[in-house]
Amino acid sequence: MDPIDLRSDTVTKPSEGMLEAMFSAKVGDDVYHEDPSVNALQDYVADFFGAEQALYFPTGSMANQAAIKLHTQPGEQLIAHEWSHVYNYEGGGVSFNSGVSCKLLGGARGLLTADQIAPAVNPPDFYHSPLTTLVCVENTTNKGGGACYALEDLKAIGAECKTHGLKYHLDGARLWNALIAEDQDPKQYGPLFDTISVCLSKGLGAPMGTVLVGKSEVIQRAMRVRKVLGGGMRQVGYMAAAGLYGIQHQLARLGEDHKRAGELAQCLASLDYVKSVEPTQTNIVIFYLNPEVNQQRFLDFLEKNKVRISAMGQGKWRLVTHLDYTESQHKRMLSALGQFQSR
Ligand SMILES: *Cc1c(COP(=O)(O)O)cnc(C)c1O
Repeated sequence: MDPIDLRSDTVTKPSEGMLEAMFSAKVGDDVYHEDPSVNALQDYVADFFGAEQALYFPTGSMANQAAIKLHTQPGEQLIAHEWSHVYNYEGGGVSFNSGVSCKLLGGARGLLTADQIAPAVNPPDFYHSPLTTLVCVENTTNKGGGACYALEDLKAIGAECKTHGLKYHLDGARLWNALIAEDQDPKQYGPLFDTISVCLSKGLGAPMGTVLVGKSEVIQRAMRVRKVLGGGMRQVGYMAAAGLYGIQHQLARLGEDHKRAGELAQCLASLDYVKSVEPTQTNIVIFYLNPEVNQQRFLDFLEKNKVRISAMGQGKWRLVTHLDYTESQHKRMLSALGQFQSR
């Protein structure tokens, strides 16, 4: 029985086609801008999102942190959702790297709304409070269970940013999933944001890499910040080629991940040991066990069935579908879930 790993969509391994693209990649020293595969990826992603320029980063956290550094000065404040990755899962980088504080807002499923922005902006002439200079949103939301924004809502938040002179960053680690789920035109995104980070090592299945897109002036400055953060890389075209392959060959199939996640959510909702399941829009399913269910018993059951998912505490669980979660694993998973005896 092969293990089923639904802890995250980062657990995937390069497909055969991706490995071939990596082996045949032309490379050079990217610190001299001489890696043709990195250059090709950057050009492709910038064009894909209708943005001027793009820069390859080793990780999403580094790309987000560079963006925050580019848009703020020490002592200033950014606005983000209380569940956001930049606030919760980047090691305190907001304060460590940029000396910035966060104004955290609530909102269903990790999503912000335009009407929350104005009240969260500190009056710029009131010099006692930090100057608000940046709004960060996430699409899809991670902790919010893969929820997507309607493009209109992102535009409305963007309009608020313009009104208040704020920069606007999108943490688009799973933007690919949102594009597929909402059938959106990626070219709408570039002009809307000052910067967007998109991850290549989640749904797209590359071993590493995130691309930051924005205006040329911003991306030029991003090169220096990336260098300072230790992200100047050499013959990394092998990895960039994997990322480009992922976009060109493994993007459209994200719909399969969403379909399977939807089926898992539906199955869970029908089981008497499950208290509730969050609405499932993309590839992340968040559900809650009934309070009387023994968590250890559930864990033991999963282990016996060689299934791994994430326990998020207080009866909350998360599973994430991905490229390496096959149809036969899916069938096994659906039937296993029905077999758990909660007492
Ligand atoms: C995964 C993720 C990132 C980046 O994570 P890295 O592991 O640093 O690549 C950023 N934002 C969100 C919402 C994520 O899910």
